[in-house]
Amino acid sequence: MSPWATTKLGFDAVQAALRCASCGGQQGFDPRTQSLRCESCGQLTEIVADPDLDAQREQAFDPGAPEDEPPEIEHAHRCETCGGEVVFMGQAISEQCPYCDGSVVLFGGHAHYTPSGLIPMGNTRAEAVEAIVRWVRGLWSAPSRLPKAVTEGHMAAVYAPFWTFDASKDVNYTVQKRTGQGKSARWIRVSGQVTMVLDDAVIGASDHVTPDIRDGIMHGFYPQWLKPYQPEYLAGYAADLHGRRVSDGLDKLRRDIEVQIRRRIRADAGGGRIRNITWTGHLSEIRFRRVLLPLWILHYHYAGKPYRIVVSGIDGRCFGERPFSMAKLFGWALLAAGGLFSAGMIIGAGLAPG
Ligand SMILES: [Zn+2]
Ligand SMILES: [Zn+2]
Repeated sequence: MSPWATTKLGFDAVQAALRCASCGGQQGFDPRTQSLRCESCGQLTEIVADPDLDAQREQAFDPGAPEDEPPEIEHAHRCETCGGEVVFMGQAISEQCPYCDGSVVLFGGHAHYTPSGLIPMGNTRAEAVEAIVRWVRGLWSAPSRLPKAVTEGHMAAVYAPFWTFDASKDVNYTVQKRTGQGKSARWIRVSGQVTMVLDDAVIGASDHVTPDIRDGIMHGFYPQWLKPYQPEYLAGYAADLHGRRVSDGLDKLRRDIEVQIRRRIRADAGGGRIRNITWTGHLSEIRFRRVLLPLWILHYHYAGKPYRIVVSGIDGRCFGERPFSMAKLFGWALLAAGGLFSAGMIIGAGLAPG
């Protein structure tokens, strides 16, 4: 075995297994057939799941157990096809050789940071572009030149890291509630208990997974679609390992559910006028998974400004940033408000001209 094959962090550099068995050509994961497709001869190779792996398995979280620092990957792999150097940095675990375009996937490695499952990429580049153009055409007040601008943008595919969390939270609360009428109206103290049960809450596990990306992809997330984490699914696509600790994910989850807790408390206290909500409670029965979810990310420019559109690699849903057409907005504003005041507000908001 060559000294390049295994990294300090215990990853295996998988490359030979991703080459075509009949012609030796480069294979990549094909979203249409959900198998490996040879770029030279077109042969399809079925991906055989390891029967020992359970993609849907959840792990119990032990708050007392020490958590390792996330691994920083810095690894050079000598391409087995052409001898070129393939460099892995940061959290990246899937790269193409810059000289021959062969797929290399780092696999295995740091047990505490290995995903248990992934949802395979479900749309091709062409399908993702088509979804974006369709989405952009249907947007309210989109400039008519926008579909052309998005097709000229830069498109990249990535498997991004997420956690899914199950947990329950018993919350003891106290609020002040307004009761009575007229002179007898007063604030009274009400306390009670509510239980929050969370099932498969999806939380981003990298700084690159912004809230809009998380919100966009979670709609299409169903745990029964998870496949065991295997290098074949990553061939030809960028992929990032989890760059944060599970406890960081739990902090995000706590902030995320704060609004829901307040809503539950208001309802439990009987609604109406409520103030000074305070509560205590902690998450328990925490179970989690480390998963990779597929995304297409388009960067494009319109009228000199950069924008980003993300397409879910699960269900093709599009979400992101878009410019507005001044001409169309202006027309709508005049129709809606019948005056220049609204149009002035829109100009004041600094939207891109159409
Ligand atoms: Zn082939
Ligand atoms: Zn190469």
